[in-house]
Amino acid sequence: MIGLVAATAAGSAAARRLADAWPDRTRRYDEVPVRAAVARAFEDCDQLVCFLATGATVRLLAPLLRGKAADPGVVCVDEAGRFAVALLGGHGGGANDLAAEVAELLGDGCTPVVTTATDAVGVPGLDSLGWPVEGAVAAVTRAVLDGAPVALRADATWPLPALPPHVGVRGVAADVRLHVTDRRLPPAAREAVLRPPSLVVGVGASRGVGVEEVLGLVSDALDEAGLSPGSVAALATVDAKAGEPGLLAAAERLGVPLRTFPAAGLAAVDVPTPSAAPLAAVGTPSVAEAAALTAAGPGAELLVRKRKSAPADRPAMATCAVARRRPRGRLAVVGLGPGARDLLTPRARTELRRASVVVGLDQYVAQIRDLLRPGTRVLESGLGAEEERARTAVAEARAGHAVALVGSGDAGVYAMAAPALAEAGPAGGSGAGGADPRGADIDVVGVPGVTAALAAAALLGAPLGHDHVSVSLSDLHTPWEVIERRVRAAAESDLVVTFYNPRSRARTRQLPEALALLAKHRGPATPVGVVRSASRPEEHVLLTTLAELDPETVDMMTVVTVGNSATREIAGRMVTPRGYRWQT
Ligand code: SAH
Repeated sequence: MIGLVAATAAGSAAARRLADAWPDRTRRYDEVPVRAAVARAFEDCDQLVCFLATGATVRLLAPLLRGKAADPGVVCVDEAGRFAVALLGGHGGGANDLAAEVAELLGDGCTPVVTTATDAVGVPGLDSLGWPVEGAVAAVTRAVLDGAPVALRADATWPLPALPPHVGVRGVAADVRLHVTDRRLPPAAREAVLRPPSLVVGVGASRGVGVEEVLGLVSDALDEAGLSPGSVAALATVDAKAGEPGLLAAAERLGVPLRTFPAAGLAAVDVPTPSAAPLAAVGTPSVAEAAALTAAGPGAELLVRKRKSAPADRPAMATCAVARRRPRGRLAVVGLGPGARDLLTPRARTELRRASVVVGLDQYVAQIRDLLRPGTRVLESGLGAEEERARTAVAEARAGHAVALVGSGDAGVYAMAAPALAEAGPAGGSGAGGADPRGADIDVVGVPGVTAALAAAALLGAPLGHDHVSVSLSDLHTPWEVIERRVRAAAESDLVVTFYNPRSRARTRQLPEALALLAKHRGPATPVGVVRSASRPEEHVLLTTLAELDPETVDMMTVVTVGNSATREIAGRMVTPRGYRWQT
């Protein structure tokens, strides 16, 4: 039971929301004075939510405290409903979880505040990875959280989030163990097993096969090979069997998808046990083995050859084979936004916490270091080492890790995504053995970021209201003639232009030349926005004109946005109309 204590009108209104949402879990305590309400709720309930200041709550609770094991968990919510603070009994009393629940329910940006060490260290829960976990989960979780040494025994490198340094492979002598394996292990008191999605079961079936026959066969095959059903990621078969009810039901019971492949593709797979029967029936000499290998992808290994079900009273109607996938590393290319923390997207944040390796320019890593999980390996480098950074990121992903390659703004805009993906080779095919020599064996995800042009535009007004283009004025990698040609084309077509990399100490010639090209096609009064360090503490915004722009106000932390012939300054803001027609 959760006791609700409130003293003010706003507190009572918030308490009512909790009471309405959780009628069976909550009870209001409205005694006056509030000291009496807190005392009674403390006696009656396992948990309290006090809509009171933390200071007041601490004073009211102090004389009541008995000990960690006996006291209820207490959450405080401030008058404005901005914070749900786990004040007492974070773990044992469940106040940490309750704070999260209360914040979620109150919504409107209410933030749960948790100060207990283990939650603050940001260790990923064993059960939070989306993989089945078995064995002594509580004991191992406890050790992981308490910082006690935990030995990690993984059959292969999987792209897991960072684990804290005391959970390790080498040099950790510990009786607490975390296994990452698809193999069955004898149960042990202080060992837990994470089941990676490493197995694919290929299945062949005659029309009308029963679900029990399929499941029995799969279960026997896994058992005899010493493999865990928890690691089965998919069933696989030939397209012709896509609608076979027994197979669909078996996949559903196992909680995995049924993946199907064209017979021609399966026929091309080199398998140990081809046979004539499926060739005649569906056009491939192998279904179970070929589908298992195909679904398991490049580098797959066949662990269980084709076997048949063995019903006592009639001919077998199902075959199966088991293949093991080679784990694929994961490369997330993550844009961090222009600088301000609240312009970092939630998805970028999730990817940073999903990674065990973070690669990037030192100044960008500094921007987000506090968000990384402890134990995250950070590979930072100084300006200039772009190609090497990209190669490092891809190599780490290819080694099986979960890598985040970070860049400011959007990581695909004048940044690392392009060199990294050029390095990464084609997306992984589904054909068995078709591994690209450069390694098609990584998954790539991109997380868009707020690029400098957009951050600047929002500060300037609405300069990008019509067609616009970005041009980098850096001739480090691009011949100046090419840049010039593009600026001229933008000038002739009256595009709004945002210049990235506009001017450095050594490169001062380019910006005036580019502006002169634009000035041939738009008037001297054309608005120009100069934005330095958008969204950072040193942010500076200047609205000027083509004639009056002083290049000295521009440096490498700046973008310069030049309006088109219709762009106007309106009430101090730069506005590009959405069309030309209505103006004339
Ligand atoms: N990937 C980045 C751009 C990298 S190129 C992005 O999407 O924003 C580097 C150039 O971006 C700088 O020379 C500057 O012109 C611009 N830039 C990056 N961050 C900026 C910021 N916060 N304010 C203004 N310009 C910025």
